[in-house]
Order: sequence, then structure tokens, then C-alpha cells
Amino acid sequence: MQRVEGKSIFGGIAIGKIKFYSREDRQVVRRHVKNVNDEVERLYRAKEEALCQLQKLHEKAVREVGDGPAEIFQVHQKVLNDRDYLGSIIHIIETETINAEYAVACTSDNFSQMFEAMDDEYMRARAADLKDVSNRMIDILYGNPGLEIESDEPVIIVAEELVPSETVQLDQKKVLSFVTRKGSANSHTAILARTMGIPALTDITVSRQWDKNTAIVDGYEGCIYINPDEDTFLKYKEKKNNEIEKRKMLEQLRGKPAVTIDGKEIMLYANIGGVKDVMNALQNDAEGIGLFRSEFLYLERSDYPTEEEQFNVYKTVARNMAGKRVIIRTLDIGADKQADYFGLEHEENPAMGYRAIRICLDRTDLFKTQLRAIYRASAFGKIAVMFPMIISVDEVRRIKIIIEEVKVELKNDMVMYGDVEIGIMIETPAAVMISDLLAKEVDFFSIGTNDLTQYTLAIDRQNSRLDCFYDSHHEAVMRMIKMVADNGHKEGCFVGICGELAADTTLTETFLRMGIDELSVSPSMLLNVKSQIRKVDLSKSCEISN
Ligand code: PEP
Ligand code: MG
Repeated sequence: MQRVEGKSIFGGIAIGKIKFYSREDRQVVRRHVKNVNDEVERLYRAKEEALCQLQKLHEKAVREVGDGPAEIFQVHQKVLNDRDYLGSIIHIIETETINAEYAVACTSDNFSQMFEAMDDEYMRARAADLKDVSNRMIDILYGNPGLEIESDEPVIIVAEELVPSETVQLDQKKVLSFVTRKGSANSHTAILARTMGIPALTDITVSRQWDKNTAIVDGYEGCIYINPDEDTFLKYKEKKNNEIEKRKMLEQLRGKPAVTIDGKEIMLYANIGGVKDVMNALQNDAEGIGLFRSEFLYLERSDYPTEEEQFNVYKTVARNMAGKRVIIRTLDIGADKQADYFGLEHEENPAMGYRAIRICLDRTDLFKTQLRAIYRASAFGKIAVMFPMIISVDEVRRIKIIIEEVKVELKNDMVMYGDVEIGIMIETPAAVMISDLLAKEVDFFSIGTNDLTQYTLAIDRQNSRLDCFYDSHHEAVMRMIKMVADNGHKEGCFVGICGELAADTTLTETFLRMGIDELSVSPSMLLNVKSQIRKVDLSKSCEISN
């Protein structure tokens, strides 16, 4: 038995056979050809087939994961139509009288090496697109289907890295888990795992020798067991069965209110990243959306989403939630969430840098585009808006002036909009300390405990070496949450938590006793939290422990 540790991207237990995937498995052989015209003709046919595949993939991705992530396939179509790229392949075929596959592989290597050597993050990222497109061409020329799961049984996919064109083609019913060496929390694989609710790991030193071996993925501990011994196997089999039983019990809570024994109703909301998560939220009884991380619309695209594109997304979410509150957080880009086309400069301390509301107040054109889309969508449901990384009253007042300008513009354009509640995220110690003043300016607070903890404890949330110091139950954070709840309530604001801590059921009672009105968690955690809420009796006195 081998146990390998990495990082968990999503929790859960998976037991099954490994499918090791490597796109480098295929050897591209150099071969002389007699008729270069035939070979060029073959290349053009492969290009047409690749364009056709990419078009279909784009349509499928739009349906399943939304416009933003789907756009990558349009970028790939552009690469295929690039004259330099195609010109280089044809040049190699003609001058060296060799086969198209080899010429594609040479061009791919030459161009991607050139891109990778550039002092420009955006161009370096294009190297991966180029390799992806070239692999598709080679697959077509060789008649090779790429990542396909041949077995009837679902499998654990293990790979160095998975790119969108690989994951989007997968038959999702056949995937138990993703385990990769490379990949971040915002990677396609992570997004897909969260959507599918399956365990996923990254930072694992993977090996092709694992192919077809039995394995156990522990998404809670962030580790994988290869060829588990009998004790481990039985232990995890039991854990998995418990997981299934627990899930069945939780399912019985569907349709029941998130109310304490003594009758206090809690707003139990879901965190989402896009339209695709709404169904999952509704199936798990979300009473609203407490955090729509709108930056996901901006990530993994090659250009800014237009007002129309954003409007369509917000409108769809508002409509699907059918009158339930949808809190859209405006763009929280920067720090760990980077989109190349923003052209953000390298920073020494990105978490404390040019990010979130700072960018929006600086680039008001961008901000107004998003606000217009949000306000337009408010005619189709109960939309609220909130702003990330607030540190001062002045910021909130400036935001409100911009909102008024947007409303005047919409009125002049005769565009309908509804009543939009305005809230802020409390995720900096500064916002906590002046929450009495901020409460006079807004309708609600939503506490972002992920960032609040990092800034309060001075611990970079991205740095896994600091995990042992990261005490999410730290008394300082608990006191801050209580202070925010009290200050918010004095001014009639409702107060929620939308950071990961909201899903920590060991703290549910503590939060309810502090007076927290709303808890917003990932869709898969909704029923867990509901179960805990229904066990709390606020009429009975109890020492708050944490
Ligand atoms: C937070 O900081 O707690 C939060 C919810 O926002 P994000 O995790 O997107 O920074
Ligand atoms: Mg945050």
C-alpha cells in the first residue's frame, strides 16, 4: 500500500480503479511522404474536423458550465485559424517532405517554447492553449479519441494536469474523483469537482504505474491510498457507507425549514460561482443565494464579459431562484484570482494589494458595466448587491454615488430595474472595527471569514505551510463576528456569514447565539447545516464555546 498526500480541493471518499491519463502517451513518429500536396490536404481536413469539434465543445460547455469557462474553446478556434501557426506546419511539411502529425508536433514545440520564454504572463498562458490545440490536431490525424473512459465502471482520474477540453468531454457519470499534480482551487478541474460534488485532490505526486490499480481518495484528509491493504480498505468502506447513510438521513430534511427548536428561522443560503450551481443549490433547499462570486464570469476568459453577457447570467439566476434573494458580490479579482487581460502588475503582497473594490473604484467603467447588468437583472427577481474588501465609510459612499449614476442612466435609457438591497462584505479588521458606522450606510453585512481570518491572524490563506497556525476558531475572529452582529443589528441590518466557517457545524450554535441571521454555504453543505440549526434551542441558556 502506498499513501500519498496532497491538497484537498473537494471533500468526500472515492473507492475505485484508477484511470491514469497522459496526453504525452502518444509517440509522434516522423515519416517521409511522397506527395506533400496530399499531406497538406490531410492537414486541412484535420483542421476542419478540429474546428467542428471545438464548436461542439463550445456549445456543450456553454450549456453545462456557462459562457465564461466555455470561451476557452473559441480561443482554441482562433489558434487554429492563425496564419502563422498553419503556415509554419505547411512550411515544415513542404520543405522536409514529412507527415502532417510530425509537422504539427514540431510547430507546437517551437511556438510554445517561444511563448513560454516571453516575459508576459498572458503569452505564457497561450503556450498551454497551443499545445492543447496541437494535441487535438494530432489526435485527429492519428484517429485517436483522447481522454475516453473505456471501462463500464466509474473510475478515479489521475493525471499530471487536466485541461478544459479534456474534462468537458468526460462522461461525468463515469468519474469518481479527480487527482492531479498541477491545478489550483480555481482550476477547471476544481470547478467541475465542486459542481459534481466528488472528491478532488491536487499537489499529488502522481505516477503512471498506478493505472488500473485500486485506490481510495480521501478528500477530507487530502490523500490517496494506492492498493490499500485490507484494514484500510475496510475502514474506508465503512466510512463511505456512513457517508451514504448520512446523506440519506440528510435528504429527509428536504422541504423542512431551517428553524431552531425554539422557532427562530435562519436564512440558509448557498454560495455559487455561476448559473450551473443554481440547480444544486435549489435541490439542497437553498432559501436564497448568499454569495454569487461574480468574478468567476471574468476568470478563464480572454476578455471582459460585456454588460449583455453579465445581464443574461444574473437574469437567469434571478429567474431560476424565483423571487428568493440573490446576493451578487461585485467583482473580487486580484490576489489569487487572476485574469490575464486585466493586465494587473506583479505585486509583492497581492492579498493586500490592488484587488476587489479597489480595482472597481479605480476603473469605474468596468464597475459601471457590472452594476448596470446587476440593476437590469433586478427587474427579474429579488437581487441584492454586495461589495468585497471594504475598509472605509468613504468607499461605501463613493459606491453609492456610482450606483445613483447607474440608476439615472438606466432611467434615461428607459430600462426597468427593481429595488436592490445594498450590502458589504465584512472581511477586513478595519470593517469590523467601524461596523457601527458602516451599518448606517447599508442594508446588510456578510462576513467573509476566509479573508477576515487571514487579515486578522496575519496568515496568508494560500500558504499551506501556515496551515498549522491557521486557527479558524480563533477567539479574535469569534469576537469580531459578535461585534459585527451587534453593530449591524443596532442599525437594522441583517448579518450573515458567507466564508467557509459558515459551514462549520461545530460553530452553528455559537453563531446563532451571536444573533447571526444568515448562513451561506456551498450547496453540498446546506443540509448538514440545516440539520445542525434544527438541533439548537436558543431558549435554553448555554455557555458559548468554540
Ligand atoms: C471570504 O473571504 O470569506 C469570502 C467569502 O470571499 P472569498 O473566499 O471569495 O475571498
Ligand atoms: Mg474574500
